[in-house]
Amino acid sequence: MPNIAFIGLGNMGGPMAANLIKKGHNVTGFDLSDTALGALVSAGGQTSVSASEASKNADVVISMLPSGKHVAELYSEEFISNLKPNTLLIDSSTIDAVTARAVAQLAASKGCKMIDAPVSGGTSGAQAGTLTFIVGGKTEDYEKARPILKCMGQNIFHAGDSGAGQVAKICNNMLLAIHMIGTSEAINLGTRHGLDPKTLSEIMQKSSGRNWSLEVYNPYPGVLENAPASREYSGGFAVDLMTKDLGLAAEAGLETKTSTPLGNAALNLYRMWSESGNGAIDFSSIIQLLNGKLKA
Ligand code: NAD
Repeated sequence: MPNIAFIGLGNMGGPMAANLIKKGHNVTGFDLSDTALGALVSAGGQTSVSASEASKNADVVISMLPSGKHVAELYSEEFISNLKPNTLLIDSSTIDAVTARAVAQLAASKGCKMIDAPVSGGTSGAQAGTLTFIVGGKTEDYEKARPILKCMGQNIFHAGDSGAGQVAKICNNMLLAIHMIGTSEAINLGTRHGLDPKTLSEIMQKSSGRNWSLEVYNPYPGVLENAPASREYSGGFAVDLMTKDLGLAAEAGLETKTSTPLGNAALNLYRMWSESGNGAIDFSSIIQLLNGKLKA
């Protein structure tokens, strides 16, 4: 089995690395947070003092970092030059396609293989090992990565060449933000008219308003026991990360002169919510902005 280095052990990376360990992989991880490193050790992994140290003997390096800036900083010329030849690099962070293509080109110039493999499915999917991976890169590298991605996910898609995984992921998250806001608007309207949020959600789940935000990630506290809304919006997908993804969608729209009016509206709502001091909590908390609360 290949040795794996895992860089970025946060809400998503931590449970993804734990699932690789459960499937028998030897995982060495690095994160800036001691808590994240401690969790990897508890899951049976090893830790290192730096990303370079963790990766120098790895056959596969997986990264799960906040943004493109972090990814570009990690995959520097120096870092890649210290890897074993032919190392497979898998970046699962959600970032812009331009950076994804640039780091993949740099990796190729140093004799490594690289794919972008952002994920969908949230922290619950990361824990359950049921993530969807959306891969951009060469077919042979996608095939090589598949058995590893299968240890962390259920559905593995090859979207196209380098960067295509990120484009597909950004489209998905723009749609996610739009239906989360739409779902929040509908539940807020119904409860203001005295409806029970659980009953209203059940009705819409069996009607044409049915969607993932309503069914799996309901934004109203208490409707779904396991959703972040029922634990004060902690431990999910941060407002700041959703704002970043909507910014990436807006940039992608500008690049191709594509109109994304609802995506742009969603970006502005999430930016307002973040600027009101809510950047670190789960993105389903946007329902509180519609409720007229400035803080969740
Ligand atoms: P997170 O903030 O919980 O985790 C990021 C981790 O990276 C943190 O533990 C941080 O300490 C670490 N880190 C930052 N810089 C580092 C560096 N230079 N070296 C090593 N570690 C470093 O974020 P997350 O929710 O796990 O999200 C990670 C990525 O996955 C983001 O791009 C996000 O958009 C994407 N994503 C998140 C979700 C979700 O539901 N949370 C779902 C799909 C995709």
